[in-house]
Amino acid sequence: GLRDSDDSVSGRVRVAVRLRPQNAEEMVADADFADCVELQPEFKRLKLRKNNWDSDTYEFDEVLTESASQKRVYEVVAKPVVESVLDGYNGTVMAYGQTGTGKTFTLGRLGDEDTSARGIMVRAMEDILANISRDSDSVMISYLQLYMETIQDLLNPTNDNIAIVEDPKTGDVSVPAATLVDIRTHHDFMELLRLGEAHRVAANTKLNTESSRSHAILMVHVKRSVIDMDTEISSETYHSLHMSKNSKPPIIRKGKLVVVDLAGSERVHKSGSEGHTLEEAKSINLSLSALGKCINALAENSPHVPVRDSKLTRLLKDSFGGTARTSLIVTVGPSPRHRAETASTILFGQRAM
Ligand code: ADP
Ligand code: MG
Repeated sequence: GLRDSDDSVSGRVRVAVRLRPQNAEEMVADADFADCVELQPEFKRLKLRKNNWDSDTYEFDEVLTESASQKRVYEVVAKPVVESVLDGYNGTVMAYGQTGTGKTFTLGRLGDEDTSARGIMVRAMEDILANISRDSDSVMISYLQLYMETIQDLLNPTNDNIAIVEDPKTGDVSVPAATLVDIRTHHDFMELLRLGEAHRVAANTKLNTESSRSHAILMVHVKRSVIDMDTEISSETYHSLHMSKNSKPPIIRKGKLVVVDLAGSERVHKSGSEGHTLEEAKSINLSLSALGKCINALAENSPHVPVRDSKLTRLLKDSFGGTARTSLIVTVGPSPRHRAETASTILFGQRAM
């Protein structure tokens, strides 16, 4: 793929890697072993240890160390996407990685007690709310869970098999049956995230599964009316609108931000199980590998992005190509015991570039 920083290249996916710090269990269990990952943030490089004397080196658009703050992660990974959504484009931020490496920490932390702990969803909404007008603009959200190719509404649990609908004319995808909530204040949003999270826990208890086996998808529809000073308007238009030369009609800008906390990537390799768990592994495998194929196609500027292979990629269709912006954050841990899983996560990220 393209490695330059040419933002005019459409459809290109920006890929960051984030390393989480060693946890208490690893401090004991891995005490006598070297970490399998070493970062060189100044060179945007990650080294993955092969053995005591050798390692493979990978480059990313951004390398976030154990000490990177939530604020910095937001600014590097998500802020440019949020800005383009405010300008009327579609944008996606996704986290991919093994369970326990920090996907939900990065995207979904509420930071109730400590605002510096807030994750990307909360920070994105703060930025959006700060940039819209209360009277003329709107921010609507849906919050979905995708489990075994079934879409559930996290804002209304009785709505548990939602269809994806494609506009035959524009090709735009939507989920008209999903609850759409008008967000006015930051407080409204926090309440909805909490509600969605509670419903996710309840749904997963009922299905006897874990959140790491499903994808959580937050959709934020932003509609702004802006006065575009650069747009030329003919005198007939002025005349017909009874306007004076210095009051131009507002332009409506509609953007959609999608934040996706993906299912744990390790499920792809653990398909030896039987029954329900096997079906589950197959469907996670299907959606993550379909996602991988789509972002590979984007990275290669291929005219054909194979979105039809899974519900996940069909839902993200508007985010692939065209003027849409996508940021992928791959999350890894330092433990040498998870080296194989970490290597596979790194390769997923590399293929997107
Ligand atoms: P995932 O969603 O990928 O399964 P989590 O976000 O739940 O992983 O993170 C697993 C654990 O690691 C949590 O206890 C979380 O607080 C902690 N953690 C993850 N990333 C970081 C980080 N960058 N700094 C500190 N703790 C982290
Ligand atoms: Mg998680």
